[in-house]
Amino acid sequence: MLKIEDINKSYDTGKSKLHVLKGINLNIEQGEFVSIMGSSGSGKSTLLNIIGILDEADNGVYELDGVPIKHLTEVKAAEYRSRFLGFIFQSFNLINYKTALDNVALPLYYQNVSRKERTKRAEEYLEKVGLLAWANHLPSELSGGQKQRIAIARALITDPKLILADEPTGALDSKTTHDIMKLLQDINKEGKTIVVVTHEPDVAAQTKRNVVLKDGLIESDTFIDQIVL
Ligand code: ATP
Ligand code: MG
Repeated sequence: MLKIEDINKSYDTGKSKLHVLKGINLNIEQGEFVSIMGSSGSGKSTLLNIIGILDEADNGVYELDGVPIKHLTEVKAAEYRSRFLGFIFQSFNLINYKTALDNVALPLYYQNVSRKERTKRAEEYLEKVGLLAWANHLPSELSGGQKQRIAIARALITDPKLILADEPTGALDSKTTHDIMKLLQDINKEGKTIVVVTHEPDVAAQTKRNVVLKDGLIESDTFIDQIVL
């Protein structure tokens, strides 16, 4: 599904270069549920952004579903993102003046799907995340957990091969965090590959594999049943 070989990434911070990723190797197979941990500033979001074709590594190999991702034009990158990927963010990133249904349906608008079909599929995915009754509500009328469910439905509606989530539970309380992780587990059981960045050990414990970044490298890469909690 995803192959990363010896990826490096530095940021130019004016006077000096900040070497964030110093040779990352990572293979993720279809159907995996992987968490990425590491202290603040260890490069978790940087790595996720490279995986999500929002940013590019300085060198090394990145292949997504057998396709080499390198030096893409913005148009091509956007096409690959919409073909392969679904994104979930800590701050939900919903459009405030659009209803839950329109938020969920939005990625299909960009794929030129007809309005009738968009509505049908958005209702299907709202039902999947348990929020069909809230279809015509605005994000401001929803709780944090409900907003994240809407964002998850939006990420799923294009049937992406890979779901990427950066701190999806970072703004939620522990009960809601548990519910959202349960939903992601169910989605994973249906065969979706998921990569989630988190700083919460409880969240990582609900995935199937945990990768820890430290000093620009992968410090550990563990299948969860081997973790002693
Ligand atoms: P957190 O847990 O706080 O979200 P993180 O592990 O996601 O941290 P990154 O956001 O990947 O960390 O950032 C890694 C390092 O790179 C940090 O020191 C950060 O300041 C720096 N950095 C990230 N993005 C940029 C950028 N666009 N320009 C310059 N430096 C950046
Ligand atoms: Mg981050």
